[in-house]
Amino acid sequence: MAALTGAWPVARLTVRLRRGLHTARKLHHQRCVRVRFAPSPTGMLHLGGLRTALYNYLFAKSNPGGKFLLRIEDTDQTRLVPRATEKLEEMLSWAGISPDEGPSQGGNYGPYKQSERIELYQESIKVLIQNESAYHCFCTPRRLELVRKEAGRRGETPRYDNRCRQWSSSEVKEKLARNTPYVIRLKLEDVAEPWDDLLKGRTSHNLADAEGDPVLIKSDRYPTYHFANVVDDHHMGITHVLRGDEWQTSTPKHLLLYKSFGWDPPRYAHLPLILNKDGTKLSKRGDDIQVEHFKD
Ligand code: GLU
Repeated sequence: MAALTGAWPVARLTVRLRRGLHTARKLHHQRCVRVRFAPSPTGMLHLGGLRTALYNYLFAKSNPGGKFLLRIEDTDQTRLVPRATEKLEEMLSWAGISPDEGPSQGGNYGPYKQSERIELYQESIKVLIQNESAYHCFCTPRRLELVRKEAGRRGETPRYDNRCRQWSSSEVKEKLARNTPYVIRLKLEDVAEPWDDLLKGRTSHNLADAEGDPVLIKSDRYPTYHFANVVDDHHMGITHVLRGDEWQTSTPKHLLLYKSFGWDPPRYAHLPLILNKDGTKLSKRGDDIQVEHFKD
């Protein structure tokens, strides 16, 4: 088995999280803690995922009335692995991490599989179109490819040029009436709004520096990770998001979504990653680090 490096001692994380919780409690008016583990069923559960689930579980259990939810983020239909959800549930239960709410347990905030919540996303996106935080993009894959190549040629970061922001509502209506294929994008703001990460402290990234407007609804009408994740965290009453470092650059997008909806965001804590000995990330497809290997 590959040796592991990069983890923070649990005691240090716990102290930081406690301190964060103290502030969070004040902000959330004594609302009970609700946290979630939100894996995509695209492979087997690895040690990093298990640790994220464990920290969320412990955080919920160390707070009176705290709840730990399992939510399956299965909106990327092209990457689904058969039986991955059942396996995930099996591994969590083997590790003694039992969700209070989830696909098998049920609960008042379900369904707990995103593929069963598509109507909610379709209703929610209408709000952002209406308040002009999001827009229809009719660019063809070919055009997007050309824009990327062109930027590369100029030595710039390849990214979408936000061209479809320009269409008036009558132009959009006309294109929709002609059944022109589209995606829906979020209008990024050109500012780096900081947030207070419960582990890292004051953090910020200016997204508009590095990327074009991100897609919220794909051409197959399914939401992207960012959109479904925020809509669900809000509707499931999530108070704290404890997740791996790799999601930290997504947080400004998520905060912008909260702002666009006019919702209060949860508190965020980004956990340092567990890495392989050679510094590479654990993979759901790697053989030696899957939780299943520890079971037998
Ligand atoms: N679906 C994401 C994952 O596979 C969830 C990330 C998050 O916790 O927001 O890890």
